[in-house]
Amino acid sequence: MERAGGRQLNSESQRVEINGKLFRPFISRDRIATEIARLGDEITRDYNQKNPLFVVVLKGSLIFAADLLRAVRTPCTLECMRAQSYGAAMTSQRTPEVEAMEFDCSGRDIIILEDIVDTGRTISAITRRLQACSPNSVRAAALLDKPGARDPHNAYRPDYVGFEVENDFVVGYGLDFDEQGRQLADIYILET
Ligand code: 5GP
Repeated sequence: MERAGGRQLNSESQRVEINGKLFRPFISRDRIATEIARLGDEITRDYNQKNPLFVVVLKGSLIFAADLLRAVRTPCTLECMRAQSYGAAMTSQRTPEVEAMEFDCSGRDIIILEDIVDTGRTISAITRRLQACSPNSVRAAALLDKPGARDPHNAYRPDYVGFEVENDFVVGYGLDFDEQGRQLADIYILET
């Protein structure tokens, strides 16, 4: 077992330990790359010459956004918004706090980039905030979707989805566990 910056790597099973919890490999970087190429093709086709505005939900979507944007082959612009994350509890915040917007999106075709949609509260709050500035359209691309975790009264469905997953806790590829694990190139799942 080797130690690297607060996380241990078990070279036999490829499991990683983050803040005392064990995670096992779940979605490889190759599978992620394949889905991102597909999403990039779909968005390129749907938004050709519409100059879409990508809104990245910080911080978890940073790596997803960096790769997806490079798979999009039509002019576009980029902004960021910040929303609260899980923290150490692995449970969603009741009312996600969305920071005030520092950009104008009136008349724009917006695509929100979200790492994972869980209860749907974060993406719903961000969508409401964006709709207040009179955009032409608001859609969302999520790398991961947990439809089984949605609030009963929230029927939100992202327009573009990389992977549908069960209601498990995952880290890596931008997703954190108490701010650790974002740098992992693959996605890992909490070992039960
Ligand atoms: P929601 O508001 O949909 O319940 O949660 C969305 C946010 O919670 C995501 O942007 C992400 O920050 C966090 N989140 C939800 N599920 C997971 C998960 O399985 N792993 C991690 N690391 N974060 C998650």
